[in-house]
Amino acid sequence: MRVLATGMALLILVLGPAGIAHGQNDATLPVADLFSPPLGFRDGLSYAPRIEYAGNDLIENTDYGVMNPDLVGSTCFGRPWETIYHAGEDLYRADGESTAGAEVTAVADGRVVYANLFINYPGLVVIVEHLLPSKELVYSVYIHLDDNTISVEEGELVERGQRVGTVLYQRYAGRFPDQHPDGDDSHLHFEMRYFYDASDIYEDHLACNGRVPGRGYTYPIHPDDFPEADAGYTDPSTFVEIRSVTRTPTSTATPAPTASRTPVSAVVTATDSPLPTPYSPLLPLLICGTEWMAVGY
Ligand SMILES: [Zn+2]
Repeated sequence: MRVLATGMALLILVLGPAGIAHGQNDATLPVADLFSPPLGFRDGLSYAPRIEYAGNDLIENTDYGVMNPDLVGSTCFGRPWETIYHAGEDLYRADGESTAGAEVTAVADGRVVYANLFINYPGLVVIVEHLLPSKELVYSVYIHLDDNTISVEEGELVERGQRVGTVLYQRYAGRFPDQHPDGDDSHLHFEMRYFYDASDIYEDHLACNGRVPGRGYTYPIHPDDFPEADAGYTDPSTFVEIRSVTRTPTSTATPAPTASRTPVSAVVTATDSPLPTPYSPLLPLLICGTEWMAVGY
């Protein structure tokens, strides 16, 4: 028993609190030299952020690095939601149909380093670590996954296009309900970033700390430079797009279809839902925001 206990202690030391060792150029981690969008890999559909106008007024923008006028309430940053920067992008079906149930796939070969089954953003979060040809590590982050559909485990190696889960249904709770008659706000919050752990990076806004996936937003620093320049978030669709074709003409790999980033002008939309959901009975969340529930801020 002592040997077993010692072994367990060593294992915990090696793996750390998140459960899975990460940030190491492990020989088992394949090089990710080809990327595909996280949605549309097999269904052939296009997914994109929503950028909507009412007349000349921008009423919604779920793209990366922007402020979204559709958001309501205030945040752990002490700011109204519509005045902070989106650290990822919210992807919706470009044809206007509900994104709920859409299959989310790994954007490249890598290793699952986070698949927390007891969190609520709303929905679950999966993070996959990728080793770039440059030897840099980068992380793809998939948020708002339906808790019954997660098909990967922490530590598991995944291939580009491998199913991670599906998109959770979310109800619209933004500023323009009259223009969202279907009340549907289902979407994937997708991030690409050069760091794994965002649980303790908000030095000026300590209330925003606390979870590995982070808040999904930054303030006052733009996500490109957060927490550090060239080591923070990056525009996820651009990152994927420029790596979605093989760079060596002799390769036989075939890139998957690339999601359109064309704004969906015909669809009036939805954004992150700040409303609490009934999920996650095990963790009373002290979190805020659209990816997280607005509680007391
Ligand atoms: Zn988002």
